[in-house]
Amino acid sequence: MSTEANPVFVRRQGSATAPDHLVASVQTRELGGLRVHAIQAGGQKLDGGAMFGVVPKPLWERRVPADERNRIQLGMRCLLIEHPIGLVLIDTGVGNKENEKFRDIYGIENAGRVGPTWLEDGLASLEVRPEDVAMVISSHLHFDHAGGNTTRGPDGVIRPTFPNARYVMQRGELEYARHTNERTAASYFPHNFAPIVAQERFDFVDGEREIVRGIRVVPTPGHTPFHQSVQIESDGEVAFYPADLAPTSSHLPLAWIMGYDVEPLVTLETKRAILTKAAREGWLLIFEHDATVASGKVKLDGKGFALDQG
Ligand SMILES: [Zn+2]
Repeated sequence: MSTEANPVFVRRQGSATAPDHLVASVQTRELGGLRVHAIQAGGQKLDGGAMFGVVPKPLWERRVPADERNRIQLGMRCLLIEHPIGLVLIDTGVGNKENEKFRDIYGIENAGRVGPTWLEDGLASLEVRPEDVAMVISSHLHFDHAGGNTTRGPDGVIRPTFPNARYVMQRGELEYARHTNERTAASYFPHNFAPIVAQERFDFVDGEREIVRGIRVVPTPGHTPFHQSVQIESDGEVAFYPADLAPTSSHLPLAWIMGYDVEPLVTLETKRAILTKAAREGWLLIFEHDATVASGKVKLDGKGFALDQG
């Protein structure tokens, strides 16, 4: 994640413990009147075939190399927005509650030096404590997006990580997470959301809504039926956090859709609509799972979409 590759973000602080390929860091930029920090909350490795669905390996491997277990390196990039109402955090990485076997299977590297995970370390580098966060918005409740919503304390008790925050979620996503089937159960763990339900800390949204001035949740179904993205707008500038609609910069071609998606043809149409707008209106896309490319603009490239390198 060199600053040259992402001229719009300025690296603020690196982490000495981070592997080179990830460089756990906080990158900061101004978006109109808002300050936005992209916090790398951890590394994760997922099967390359599953990440690119029907795209054959010889094609995707040219862009992203696979390890000996056929996994590709991913990140878990969260956003912290300094907003007049307080600090707004978008997605929270994988958290600290999974066991060693799980962490090995998914190649998770996120153990913090000062806090439980890289997320708290990134916040600390900005002099932010978990209790300072006013709002947490989750794109969806999969473990690698909402795992950090709760934390296992030294006493073994699992609590909301951000004790003073409201947690904003599509109502349908919680219901979907609570009623899993054989295909979806591997991604949804009650310990990531049940403690928040128990403390009545969720604020539910149905559909598109401006949550606070300039921060809007936008339903982007396909990966899950109630998956949402977040649009940030200030003084005419727009940043868009697609989350798993386009998890990396390699997922801009329309057919490059994850095998994990429960409704891939819905993803296709959601992506077509969102990327068309993004290209036309010059939005900055911020990629949650890209290990190296934090953000970029998108351009129409023939019939499809590509990262605008210019
Ligand atoms: Zn994900």
